Amino acid sequence: MSPRREILAGNGAAAGGDGQAPTAGAEPQRPVDPGPEPGEEDVEAGLRPRRLQEFIGQRDLKGRLGIVLEAARRRRQAVDHVLFAGPPGLGKTTLAGIVAAEMGAGFRVTSGPALARAGDLASILTGLQPADVLFIDEIHRLPRAVEEILYPAMEDFAIDVVIGKGPTAQSVRLGLPRFTLVGATTRTGLVTGPLRDRFGFVAHLEHYEVDELQAIVARGAGMLGVATSAEGAQEIASRSRGTPRLAIRLLRRVRDFVEVRAEGAITLEAAREGCATFGVDELGLDALDRRLLEVLCVRFAGRPVGIGTLSISLGEEPETLEDVYEPYLVQRGLVLRTPRGRVPGPAAWRHLGLPEPAEAVPAAAAGVPELVAPRLPGLGELGV
Ligand code: ADP
Repeated sequence: MSPRREILAGNGAAAGGDGQAPTAGAEPQRPVDPGPEPGEEDVEAGLRPRRLQEFIGQRDLKGRLGIVLEAARRRRQAVDHVLFAGPPGLGKTTLAGIVAAEMGAGFRVTSGPALARAGDLASILTGLQPADVLFIDEIHRLPRAVEEILYPAMEDFAIDVVIGKGPTAQSVRLGLPRFTLVGATTRTGLVTGPLRDRFGFVAHLEHYEVDELQAIVARGAGMLGVATSAEGAQEIASRSRGTPRLAIRLLRRVRDFVEVRAEGAITLEAAREGCATFGVDELGLDALDRRLLEVLCVRFAGRPVGIGTLSISLGEEPETLEDVYEPYLVQRGLVLRTPRGRVPGPAAWRHLGLPEPAEAVPAAAAGVPELVAPRLPGLGELGV
């Protein structure tokens, strides 16, 4: 029996499926952008694991979540409110759906940006059934006035509604059924203290290991009905930047490739060629990542480069560089963040096939002018 699932949005606001990506929209997307592409949500919905047991990886998190769910089931109560934090595409929405399915509860989906006014949230809350799971994606983007409605709703299962206007206005407290709020955020640092404190269970999702992604690719290939060798699945996994959404997207592109070439199965060779055709190299970098590395290694010859200068050199917003490009490049040691700016790591020179300079250029002699240096949130806030 599949749980009731409804997508909810405020008046005139788009639910946006996962509602995940500020980058999703009319702009052309990078093959390695971890946010969902337009239209991708439908494919993803079909591939999402429905039960905790089917969910691959995140072992510790799964273990703890399993206990929380079992305890709630035994007590015959709604689960405590849950917050999932971590980079896009790692499975937060999937886990929210699993919480509902495991509890046999209804699943209602909305997102921070879709809830523009307090009334939008109030009408969703008053429509909940007992034990329903309400999923709010990008919860850090809830407007302040809307967030404040959530406090009594989460704590006392009630909301305060103002009826009438002016001197005759009255505040009336409306009771709500016991429900479970599941929040998701890519920016833990932007979730306010009062909101974070009201979640009984906060879980951080980590990037996946290659063998876990390989299992996700193999499962996805089975569901999409495309034959894949273990080596082919591993090749796709190792180019997927630790992110299941990218693994599944690459799998679909490689499937297109083998279908057009009438090769039938995803072998190691087909996976390599297919990924290369779509501009994703052995480390999972696309043309834009490689351009960033070239700017650091070639144009600035390994000297520290400030984020503002880098942003102007690449024609990308500093926020996009920090949020979308850098987390993976830093994680792989391709880019190092130093107090004086970004420098290429040894792996960057190797990856571009360039000799690493014998000695690091002294920072003082760098002479790279810092053109713009806005105060930006750190990577720690991204949960990476
Ligand atoms: P998020 O909400 O964190 O952006 P999603 O839950 O939407 O990520 O997951 C993106 C895609 O990756 C979905 O198609 C989902 O099926 C798949 N996925 C994520 N995590 C897993 C996992 N652990 N096992 C199998 N598939 C996964």
